[in-house]
Amino acid sequence: MSFLCMAELKKLAELKCPKCGQDMEVWGREDYGFWPEGILELTMNCKKCGYRGFDVFPLRLGEPSKLEIRVEDLDDLKIRVAKASPGLVKIPELGVEIKPGPASEGYISNIEGVLEVIRDSLKHPPLTPPLEGGE
Ligand SMILES: [Zn+2]
Repeated sequence: MSFLCMAELKKLAELKCPKCGQDMEVWGREDYGFWPEGILELTMNCKKCGYRGFDVFPLRLGEPSKLEIRVEDLDDLKIRVAKASPGLVKIPELGVEIKPGPASEGYISNIEGVLEVIRDSLKHPPLTPPLEGGE
């Protein structure tokens, strides 16, 4: 049973934009499309600086879980996946491990989309070095 009952995007809150500090709207909706207990999709949009953020969370909190998918044929590339911002992605066959950082976002994609993001990030590495330390 859903506690928010939102099939359509609804405005949930206002937060300070992490980029410019102005108030920014947070919109959300529930999605039961591929996870039986549902996920909450959050979209953040700053009208002042254009910052956009996205994240997903399970609607029912539980112990952290590990999902493993073995890609064996081209149809497997179409499998939908959702990753929350604190999620870790490992592809041992490629030697890839994507750890969550302070600017991590969640996403909903498919296996092919995840592989394309990895490929593109190898072509265009970030211009700024990763943050170190912190307070
Ligand atoms: Zn902003």
